[in-house]
Amino acid sequence: IFLSCLLVLAGCIQTESTSNQPKAKSKDDKIVIGLSLGTMKEERWQREIDMAKAYAKEHGFEILVQSADDDASKQVKQVEDMVTKGIDVLLISAKDSESAGAVVDIAHEEGVPVVAYDRLVRNGELDYFVTFDTVKVGKLQAQALVDAYPKGSYIWLLGGPEDFNATLLKEGHEQILQPLIDQGDIKIVTQQWTKGWSPEEALKHTENGLTAANNDVVAVLASNDTTAGGAVQALEAQGLAGKVGVSGQDAALEGVQRIVEGKQTSTVYKPTKQLNQKAMELVHALALGDQEKADSLVNGKTDNGVKEVPSILVDVTNVTKENMVETILKDGFHSIEEVYKNVP
Ligand code: BGC
Repeated sequence: IFLSCLLVLAGCIQTESTSNQPKAKSKDDKIVIGLSLGTMKEERWQREIDMAKAYAKEHGFEILVQSADDDASKQVKQVEDMVTKGIDVLLISAKDSESAGAVVDIAHEEGVPVVAYDRLVRNGELDYFVTFDTVKVGKLQAQALVDAYPKGSYIWLLGGPEDFNATLLKEGHEQILQPLIDQGDIKIVTQQWTKGWSPEEALKHTENGLTAANNDVVAVLASNDTTAGGAVQALEAQGLAGKVGVSGQDAALEGVQRIVEGKQTSTVYKPTKQLNQKAMELVHALALGDQEKADSLVNGKTDNGVKEVPSILVDVTNVTKENMVETILKDGFHSIEEVYKNVP
């Protein structure tokens, strides 16, 4: 009897330590959500922190926020710290999609479910993924340029190689560009990953591409608005801004301002308010153990190399000068005064 009791006990301990269900809370226990961001470089991330904090305040739970400042090992340490302090659910936008699998294990050991936010966590038993359709973002970026510049030489700037979103964007770019490359309409002068999504890197790659092509370039396929900024700077130095097409994404203020000024062709509007709202609803439901509500939010799945991760996918829209009003301005994403600030 003693032995079977011990075995039962061992079984219980085992189940408890590997389960990713939040520990049962007493009524007075406050829910605490951990939000870990890999970077804060783009303006979108600060906005999303503010949205998450507002949601938490409104719904009476606490949120711990940390940014790893583009340092993957710092992000792991920060998550360890949060888990030790005691969080109910971890929401994470990983600096490095591949190495972040370790973060999932750390959280799961303490029974904390993990939701990837915007950027996939690969190689881990991730619980949920809340994101935009990133392959579609890539397709829209390339399509906007191809529509305006169907023939000629392109500089192709990919995103940060450590971010799996950059790979998904590349997949989208290829779907549009490859047939045109194959039929000889488009020539790629250079294709470069932009380490850390850095505008300085984008500037350097664009300068090199322009030099290699003797400035005979019709478009720069940039993977987001920050790197588009670096590309436009390089074009400006050659008197080519406004003559060469440039794509982007995020509808960052600097990006949409460049669009109305005629220096950038397009951006992709990703309604971060919707993304954030869904993510917060999900983490709240998980913290309360409301599996039914959590499942009702899911509308897809994503292969992260280990499993098909239940996912919430949010749609995106291409934005040019022509539809700025009915997209970004209509949604109040930026005000008309801010967007047209530099336009006489
Ligand atoms: C996001 C983009 C962002 C980029 C740099 C990507 O994972 O999807 O919206 O511009 O990271 O932070």
